[in-house]
Amino acid sequence: MPPAQRRGATPKAPVTSFPVAEGEEPWTEEEVAEIREELLAEMARMEKAIEVAEAGLADLFEDGGDGAGRDPADVGSSNFERDQEMSLAQNAREMLEQAQNAYRLFESGSYGICESCGEPIGKDRLQVFPRATMCVACKQREERR
Ligand SMILES: [Zn+2]
Repeated sequence: MPPAQRRGATPKAPVTSFPVAEGEEPWTEEEVAEIREELLAEMARMEKAIEVAEAGLADLFEDGGDGAGRDPADVGSSNFERDQEMSLAQNAREMLEQAQNAYRLFESGSYGICESCGEPIGKDRLQVFPRATMCVACKQREERR
């Protein structure tokens, strides 16, 4: 058995490439690094967005109090604001999850493969939408359901 295997640890080579769709150029190291940056930036953005939405929610709940002496129109509009903040937070959470998922795949070297059909997602699509884990065809199929 070669010494590397006997130690039980697979040396973790940095991921430098991912599958591409037919007719696409292979990934360059720079492009791979950009995707990683983009995913990290996206996760940070989403975490921030969740924080902001949650802080906004906390404020709204505080203002809400027991509603004493408040104009009913005011109460109505703050309920509306609350719903909005909640869906913002929810959205951001979903996007964060997608980005984390994509990042996990990235780190494990299985990034760029459609999780539904197993075909390459395609570099063009990933550069526009780095957190994609499905190819366009599968994504569209899913959205039609
Ligand atoms: Zn697919």
